Amino acid sequence: MGVTLIKNGTVVSPTGATPQDVLIDGEVIVAVGAPGYFAATEEGADRVIDATGKYVIPGGVDVHTHMELPFGGTSASDTFESGTIAAAWGGVTTIVDFAVQRAGEDVHAGLAEWHRKADGNCAIDYGFHQIIGGVDEESLKAMSYLVEHEGVSSFKMFMAYPGVFYSDDGQILRAMQQAADCGAMIMMHAENGIAIDVLVAQALARGETDPRYHSYTRPSPLEAEATHRAIVLSHVAGNVPLYIVHMSAGDALEEVAAARHHGRNVFAETCPQYLWLTLEETLAKPGFEGAKWVCSTPVRSKDNDPHWKGLHGHGHQADLWRGLRMNELAVVSTDHCPFCMKDQKELGLGNFAAIPNGIGGVEHRMELIYQGVVAGELSLERWVETCCTTPARMFGMYPRKGIIAPGADADVVVWDPNRRTKIGINDKHHMNMDHSAYEGFVIDGKVDTVLSRGMVVVENDQFHGRTGHGQYIKRGLSQYLV
Ligand SMILES: [Zn+2]
Repeated sequence: MGVTLIKNGTVVSPTGATPQDVLIDGEVIVAVGAPGYFAATEEGADRVIDATGKYVIPGGVDVHTHMELPFGGTSASDTFESGTIAAAWGGVTTIVDFAVQRAGEDVHAGLAEWHRKADGNCAIDYGFHQIIGGVDEESLKAMSYLVEHEGVSSFKMFMAYPGVFYSDDGQILRAMQQAADCGAMIMMHAENGIAIDVLVAQALARGETDPRYHSYTRPSPLEAEATHRAIVLSHVAGNVPLYIVHMSAGDALEEVAAARHHGRNVFAETCPQYLWLTLEETLAKPGFEGAKWVCSTPVRSKDNDPHWKGLHGHGHQADLWRGLRMNELAVVSTDHCPFCMKDQKELGLGNFAAIPNGIGGVEHRMELIYQGVVAGELSLERWVETCCTTPARMFGMYPRKGIIAPGADADVVVWDPNRRTKIGINDKHHMNMDHSAYEGFVIDGKVDTVLSRGMVVVENDQFHGRTGHGQYIKRGLSQYLV
């Protein structure tokens, strides 16, 4: 790979956007200098990338993906190979996926299974969180082992999906105590799954089977209540760091804001689908088409939610964008969990509860949140912070990942604000899905060039990367805590 110089661009970090040149040697950024400072080096460089008029940002870090996840009677349709290639197309150079342990299963075997799926198959770097679906003495012991020896420092638990991944409050408390002991982060799917199952059964009994009922049977107060309960349990467990995943609701966000106001180690992420999609425009489409957007937590009503009108009366989305600006929401991830309509989403024809839950989005997060910058919802710096820097810090990968700085991995995206990206199945679309959740979206910006550890993986609308280039990242503890 040799020496690469990226010149004449504007480097964007959480603290500002500055004209700077970036010098890369092999897989690592070795220097960042004033424009022209490396002119003497340029002649001997193996590659010079002219970023005139463009932004130079750290590679995106998506800390919530589900490649090849067995779920809902089928498996997520992206492999680690297809999913990480799609990620690269979208300016993402690191993903953190979820290894699975269910009740009665061995945590170490679950993690080994995820290594088997991913190792040698990824085009970009990857790490793992561990799902703890069964709390017992063995799995609790394994948590500490994974933190110390395996580079897995975060554990996901579920207050939803009874009978699949669900843990009750006592089990959650016990796992949180273990995490507090070893410094790990607890990630929580916060929805009251017991109450949701009652609403689902009642809806089906009334003959309400269309995809829209997926959202109606998961009302936002059941996300807010579970978020509150998780926060209380984390406090009782010794202020263990708690990270609420895929937050979709303004009333749930209020719980996080209040906890943070009280000095708790509570963080939250949201995803592009909750910032851009509405129930009316997606799930409520006639017939079965709405199945494309069945995910949990659900896409919510824009301004017709009987339970929540928004803190300022503008619905959930306005609250989430504000939360992103205010750092009540620290991270944007995708919860990338793609399923095709054919043979997969179709499992739920005539029964919304049997539709596999998930949306594919790993390719489009950088684009969709950049569009928030264009729309005036957040700053350029905050885009980089929520999509690159904070996810790296939150999950113990900084400063190797998430920043353009000497010593960091040369994961770099050159972003062109003067070109456009049209998203759609016949436009930009590299995920292994037969539809796009963002069909027809036009982004006022474009991924220009992507480097993964010094290797150019996307350039001139072509993929130049290699399956197996991606390395496993052993993560440390969260760096977001005192
Ligand atoms: Zn998920």
